[in-house]
Amino acid sequence: MTLSNNDYLHEFHWLLDVLQSIGVGLVVMDKDYKITLWNGFMQNHSALMPAEAMGQTLFSLFPELPEKWFKRKAQSVFMLRNSAFTTWEQRPYLFKFKNYRPITGRAAFMYQNCTIMPLVGLSHEVDHICLIVYDVTDTAVNKLNLQDVNSQLEHLSQTDRLTGLYNRGWWEECLNKEYKRFNRNKAPCGLVMFDIDHFKKVNDTHGHQAGDEVIRQTADAVRKAIRDVDIAGRYGGEEFTIILYDADQNGCKAFAERLRKMIESLTVIYDGVNIKFTVSLGLAPLTKKIESPTQWLEAADKALYEAKNDGRNCWKVFKP
Ligand code: GH3
Ligand code: MG
Ligand code: MG
Repeated sequence: MTLSNNDYLHEFHWLLDVLQSIGVGLVVMDKDYKITLWNGFMQNHSALMPAEAMGQTLFSLFPELPEKWFKRKAQSVFMLRNSAFTTWEQRPYLFKFKNYRPITGRAAFMYQNCTIMPLVGLSHEVDHICLIVYDVTDTAVNKLNLQDVNSQLEHLSQTDRLTGLYNRGWWEECLNKEYKRFNRNKAPCGLVMFDIDHFKKVNDTHGHQAGDEVIRQTADAVRKAIRDVDIAGRYGGEEFTIILYDADQNGCKAFAERLRKMIESLTVIYDGVNIKFTVSLGLAPLTKKIESPTQWLEAADKALYEAKNDGRNCWKVFKP
């Protein structure tokens, strides 16, 4: 079967209809970035009629478009005759179109993947390019939501539920890192381990819930006492550990005394009852003689043991 000229014209007509109404953006441009095709998708989302877009350059219509970046991509398409791609992860969108989808309130704009495709003319030269714009808002929002959930999970896996401080597992990872950092740059660093005094009595006298509240408020005091760079964890039941960043022996002592006083003067009110308590602290400034993170921890633990033996509500520095 052969096709008549009339048939070809018909097919051409259908094709134009398809391009007009297809659900992706199509923009054809010449070497000066003057627009020669602006399909229905582009019209609907930009509110620019084809008659308004035709013959204008892309950059005069969309001054906010990253001109230098786009031209660099387009030039390579003209020269190398290969398509170029951009994803929403590199650049969320090329055209700032509103997102009308009701999926979530997350995306105010349409996330886009784009392809720039070479168009070969009758002279066998690439004299035009076609910019194809895909709406990938659904994919992007799903992926971003998943990333959020993952980072929440990560946070949960590092955090102690009762106090919001780091849990023992994560805190120990931090300890290992800090130890390695010290071996590299020898910046001073201190470790504080402390334990609530006679805590069994708090539980026995006021109940486990009151005990929990004491632990929570102890953690609050720690948060107030440390700087942003210090790393505090709940090591066990009512035992806490803190890595003091950039702190020498004197820095550790000053910190320990401040925290000791803060807690001594704290009154936890639970069920209308005032609860007073104290803590004992062991300090281990990091030195070359400490040969592993485990030894560092043991040093702080020994100092804490001494503080307990010395009558509690005090701090002791580890002596080898
Ligand atoms: P010391 O001064 O020698 O430290 O005496 P202590 O009574 O505090 O003794 P110890 O440190 O061994 O006591 C730990 C107690 O803490 C035992 C345990 O029942 C209690 N405990 C551990 N975890 C929790 C918790 O999450 N909540 C509460 N309320 N109590 C806890
Ligand atoms: Mg205790
Ligand atoms: Mg204890």
